[in-house]
Amino acid sequence: MFGLIRFAATLQRLYPFRLTPAVVRKRQEDSLRALLAHAVANSPYYRRRFAGIDVATCALADLPTLTKTEMMEHFDELVTDPRLKKADLGRFVDDTVNLGRYYLGEYGVSHTSGSQGQPALIVQDRHALSLIFAVQFARAAKLKRRFLPHLGRIINPARMAVLTIKPGFYPSAAAFAYFPRFLKPAFKILHLSFSDPMEKNIKKLESFRPEFLTGYASALEAFGREEAEGRMQLRALGCLKQITNVAEPLTDAAAVELERIFSAHVADEYAMGECMVLSSGCIEGRGAHVNADLAILEVVDEHNRPVPPGTEGSKVLVTNLYNRVQPIIRYEVDDRLTLSDAPCPCGSPLPHIVKITGRSKDKLWFEDGGERREVPYYVFLVPLHHVLDLAEHQIVQTGPRNFLVRLVPLKGKRIDVARVREMMLESIRLEGLEAAIVVTIEAVPDLPRGPSGKVARVKNEYALTLDKRASQRSAADAAEDKLPTA
Ligand SMILES: [Zn+2]
Repeated sequence: MFGLIRFAATLQRLYPFRLTPAVVRKRQEDSLRALLAHAVANSPYYRRRFAGIDVATCALADLPTLTKTEMMEHFDELVTDPRLKKADLGRFVDDTVNLGRYYLGEYGVSHTSGSQGQPALIVQDRHALSLIFAVQFARAAKLKRRFLPHLGRIINPARMAVLTIKPGFYPSAAAFAYFPRFLKPAFKILHLSFSDPMEKNIKKLESFRPEFLTGYASALEAFGREEAEGRMQLRALGCLKQITNVAEPLTDAAAVELERIFSAHVADEYAMGECMVLSSGCIEGRGAHVNADLAILEVVDEHNRPVPPGTEGSKVLVTNLYNRVQPIIRYEVDDRLTLSDAPCPCGSPLPHIVKITGRSKDKLWFEDGGERREVPYYVFLVPLHHVLDLAEHQIVQTGPRNFLVRLVPLKGKRIDVARVREMMLESIRLEGLEAAIVVTIEAVPDLPRGPSGKVARVKNEYALTLDKRASQRSAADAAEDKLPTA
C-alpha cells in the first residue's frame, strides 16, 4: 500500500500539463546538484574526475563527458554502492533464472545491446524502476488533461500489449520483469514474442483488446500489414488508443500509415537502457518530449559543443538525474537529434525532439565527385511496404555506391525478389539516383540480431571499413612520429 501511495504522489508530480518551463528548470537544477554531490561523495571515479570542480556551482559544460567504454572500464569505482562488482553482475545476467530478481535484494539489473560496440550493465534501485512506469502513466499515454482518470485505473485497469523478441536482460524486457507488484491491479500487460507464429499473436491480441500497443518499429509494421490485409481486426474492436514505437527509428511515413490502418495515434519514444525515461512520445503530434525534470539531454556537435534548437546535432550527451547507484553524467550517445525551436502544439512545457535520425554511422551515402551525398533510407523502405510476406529487412552499404537489401520472408512464405527489384528500381528512379547507386537484393532465411533481439535495419559496412583503415593509418602515423629523425 505504501508503494502505491508513493507512486500516486509521483504521478501527481509528473503530470506535465500542470508544469511550467520554469518549474521544470528548477527541478532539473535541484536534481542535478543533488546527483553531483552524491556522485562526488560516494563514487571514487567521479571524485577523481571532478577533482578541482565545485559541483555546487559549476556549469554542466564544465564537467567531463563519459563514454560507454569508460563507464564499463571503471564500473566498480563508478557505482556508489561498493558491493556492486562488474564481474559478479556479469555472472548474474548470464543466468536467465535471475530475470526479475533483485540483486542484493535491492537492485534491478539489465544490460544494453552490444550491437553498437560492447554491451553496458545498468543497475537501478526500486524507485528508479517504478519511475519507468510512473512516466508511462503520467506522460506517455493520451489521457484527458485531468489527473483523476489515473486513479480510476485501479477499477478499470489499463491494458498494454508489449511486443518483444524474447524475455531477457535487455532494458525494455527487464523493465517489465521488474514491474512493481503494487501496480498489478491497475495495469494489465500482455507480452507477445515476435518469434511466435503470427496467427497465435493475433489471436492473443484480439482477445486481450489492448488500449496501448508498444513495440519495435519492425514489429509494429508487421502487425500493420496483417491488419491492412484483413487478417487481424484490432481496429474494428475499437479498443486501441495509442501505439508506441520504442528502440528503432520509425519514419514519419510509416507512422502515418500505421495511424491510418489502426485509427490510433502513433507516439515515438527516444530512450535508452542508460536512461529509460529520457523522453516520452508526444501524445498529439510527432516527435517526443524530453523528461527534463528526470534527465538532461544535450544535443551537441562532434566536439561536444551545443547546437541550437532547430539544428541537427552529431551526438547527444545524456545525464540521468534519478539513478543514484550508477551515476550517468554527460554520457555520450551517437544519435543525431533535432530539438524544436518552438513550443509543441500539444501544450507540453517539456522540450520537444522533432527529429530522431539515429546513429551517424548507420547513415547511407554515395560518393559523388569526392563529396558524400546521403541516400535516404525511405528510398529502400517505401517499396518494402508492399511486400506483405516480409518478416524483416536490412539495408547494407557495401561499397562507395553499392547497397545490399536483405529480405527475410514470413515463416512458410516466399519473397518474389524480381518483383521487389522492379519496385526498388522505380523508387530509386523517382529519387533521381538511378545512375548513382547499385542495388543488389537477396532473400535470406534470417538476419543476425543483437542481444536485445534487434536487427540493425541500416548498416554501413563500407563506412566501418573506411574508419578501420583510417585508425590503422593514424596508429601507423603515431608510430612513425615516435621514430627518431636522423
Ligand atoms: Zn507535444
